[in-house]
Amino acid sequence: MRLEYIAPTSVDEALERLQAAGGRAALAAGGTDLIPALRAEARQVDLVIDLGRLAGEGARYSTIRLEQGTLCLGAGVTHTQVIESALVQQHLPALAAACAEIGGPPVRNRGTLGGNLANASPAADSAPPLLAYDAGLLLVSPAGERRVALQDFFLGPRRTLLKPDELILEIGVPLPPAATAASFIKLGRRSAMAIAVVSAAARLSLDESGRVSQARLALGSVAPIPLRAFAAEQALQGQELQPALLQAAAELARQAVQPISDVRASAEYRSRMVEVLSRRALHTAWEALQRRDPA
Ligand SMILES: Cc1cc2nc3c(=O)[nH]c(=O)nc-3n(C[C@H](O)[C@H](O)[C@H](O)COP(=O)(O)OP(=O)(O)OC[C@H]3O[C@@H](n4cnc5c(N)ncnc54)[C@H](O)[C@@H]3O)c2cc1C
Repeated sequence: MRLEYIAPTSVDEALERLQAAGGRAALAAGGTDLIPALRAEARQVDLVIDLGRLAGEGARYSTIRLEQGTLCLGAGVTHTQVIESALVQQHLPALAAACAEIGGPPVRNRGTLGGNLANASPAADSAPPLLAYDAGLLLVSPAGERRVALQDFFLGPRRTLLKPDELILEIGVPLPPAATAASFIKLGRRSAMAIAVVSAAARLSLDESGRVSQARLALGSVAPIPLRAFAAEQALQGQELQPALLQAAAELARQAVQPISDVRASAEYRSRMVEVLSRRALHTAWEALQRRDPA
């Protein structure tokens, strides 16, 4: 395959070239999903647009900032940057935990959050925690900007809401309420360099009376898209936490998924593990809330 390669330094230039290519261009961030896909000829393009040199306005693409109660993560932020960010560790620990489970160090040094989401694998490790934190995406195209909730972004395996002339500029996460704890658990066939068989992220926020004011439970690798277990979340809403409630929520999560059998696990095993991981993820968040210093 013969390819043209460009590395624009502005978002406008990247968008102009993307639009002009009329669907025959691929955006490249870290390239850890794209390059294998091009090599396997799973994607046919004439032009690769490398986003790695975006500057100026594009600095939003590669930085982590706190802006008016929202943690803004540039789409080009690498998994290593996420793991090492003091802001992420403080406010979004479940996201740092998920990024730490992606591939090995070289993949985490190259791979980006935006690439992980745009690639739209049901097993994308950053997706469940970002869903649990109510993340939204800032998408830009020559027509302007629009914001979409991450929970509406995925349409199916490798399919998203992104238009052909659009890119993800940043991921915005509203700072969770003070009494919040979250967790991420990934089950793979081995403990490193493995794609998830099932993954679960839980977030619990409490009101002043100690009842659940917000509950989020998001799952990976068990449906065509990473998804939230809404019925489980609703069962927790407004309740006082106790083991039987977490078990009931985990059972509802199991009922919400439609896993497939593949080389990594059977559908039945995945279903059972959804219940186990959901219960553990919720328990881990609950325990962290109990340890939390109320000050
Ligand atoms: C050895 C290995 C191990 C891996 N292990 C894991 C793992 O454990 N967990 C996991 O979740 N993933 C894993 N991956 C997959 C991959 O590393 C991640 O999905 C990574 O985050 C992709 O990011 P990237 O920047 O490399 O994306 P790229 O490969 O550059 O791009 C991926 C896709 O997203 C598009 N894209 C990139 N940036 C944007 C943007 N800003 N706007 C719109 N579209 C964009 C590209 O056009 C392409 O279609 C692994 C990959 C390898 C090679």
